[in-house]
Amino acid sequence: MSGLPQRPPGFVYRTPEIKRVQRSSSSLQRADNSVPRLHCEAIPISSLAEKFGTPLYVYSAAAIRERVLAFKAAFREIDHTICYSVKANSNLSLLRLLAKAGCGFDIVSGGELERVLRAAPGSVKQVVFSGVGKTSAELDAALGASILLFNVESAAELDALAQCAERLKRTAQIAFRVNPDVPADTHPYISTGLQKHKFGVPLVDARSLYSQAARLKFLKVAGVSVHIGSQITDSAPFSATMQRVAELVRQLRADGHNIRFVDAGGGLGIDYCGSQDFRESVGSYAAAIAPSLKDLKVRLLVEPGRSIVGPAGVLLTRVVYRKTNGDKKFVIVDAAMNDLIRPSLYQAEHQIVPVEFNDANRESVDIVGPICESGDFFARDRELPVVGEGALLAILDTGAYGMALASNYNTRGRAAEVLVSGNTAKVIRKRETISDLLRNEVAAL
Ligand SMILES: *Cc1c(COP(=O)(O)O)cnc(C)c1O
Repeated sequence: MSGLPQRPPGFVYRTPEIKRVQRSSSSLQRADNSVPRLHCEAIPISSLAEKFGTPLYVYSAAAIRERVLAFKAAFREIDHTICYSVKANSNLSLLRLLAKAGCGFDIVSGGELERVLRAAPGSVKQVVFSGVGKTSAELDAALGASILLFNVESAAELDALAQCAERLKRTAQIAFRVNPDVPADTHPYISTGLQKHKFGVPLVDARSLYSQAARLKFLKVAGVSVHIGSQITDSAPFSATMQRVAELVRQLRADGHNIRFVDAGGGLGIDYCGSQDFRESVGSYAAAIAPSLKDLKVRLLVEPGRSIVGPAGVLLTRVVYRKTNGDKKFVIVDAAMNDLIRPSLYQAEHQIVPVEFNDANRESVDIVGPICESGDFFARDRELPVVGEGALLAILDTGAYGMALASNYNTRGRAAEVLVSGNTAKVIRKRETISDLLRNEVAAL
């Protein structure tokens, strides 16, 4: 289906096979059967909507596996571990799938640690823990689980970790997350590698912090970590960052520290237009990172989130109403900003396609949800083939930071999630009911 936005191998348009020979091939049947429909792997997406309702997140296992393989291939020449960033999409089934594909995990909270312990307990030895505000309860839990590496983000956190480790008599391997002061051309909310940001410790303070850490009995200095932001599509900031990190590793080794890990963070951007080849983009990402590390003989940790799961998911939604206000046309759908906040939070532009291919005239519409906010939109002034009430639309590339950022705003239950592999589809998160939402509330006074 050239010309139609699709995301192979997960989401492609196919004309359904005609299973049995039809005795009378009426022209109506033929017309119907020849309409290409969006499939997730072998399953027509419309059948998922019928079975599980909308709004519905649909993920492709094949797409996720393929992306992990692309990462492995790109970094094959260097000792590495892919620590999938749990916050991008933390569903237990996806974590299990990723662990089976050989991934470790990057976590940013005690809650995410618990998810890894439940979904893939064997992978906890490959967990790195990032975040600027780890509480002592979270540090205790991570010490108890014997994770691989703590990415320490301040002198205060170093003290707290040392105290927890001493109290529990457990050793923690640590890296400092350094702030390389490298600008990344991305949305300001997801840029993290500048001095003005809250993340990491300044490069100039690193050596003295490492010496301080080396004196602490239950801490073992083991690595250097960075993470400069998210949705970065240019490889120059990654390469500038790794040059600074490699330089620091040499200095730290000269100071007598045993640096065995370099954690390059996540942040590889995806092409939301779907025109870029992923093997190519992860290839240039690896080419930006690996050369600086080649002769350091360290184990590289990478923490991709979005680039693994983003294009492996779509948000399926149904048109509730159409309306016209003056010369503006609105398509009102049953998903809303509580299901997918990226357009309103980051001005993100997701491609939106009709599930049943339609070559009707195109029109310019705003695709909006039912929430009482003008910020509740998925696209503005978007050219779309005319779709009627009841039609299904798929919002593409919503596997990352979609469900993960979903809320209950307007007392809307969160969508169900379905994982497709070949011709099987499993619900991996049930649709939230109103009683789920009200369970913890009390009508007091
Ligand atoms: C969010 C985050 C990631 C993942 O970023 P992506 O852009 O999804 O790849 C990795 N590491 C850290 C520390 C993060 O905060």
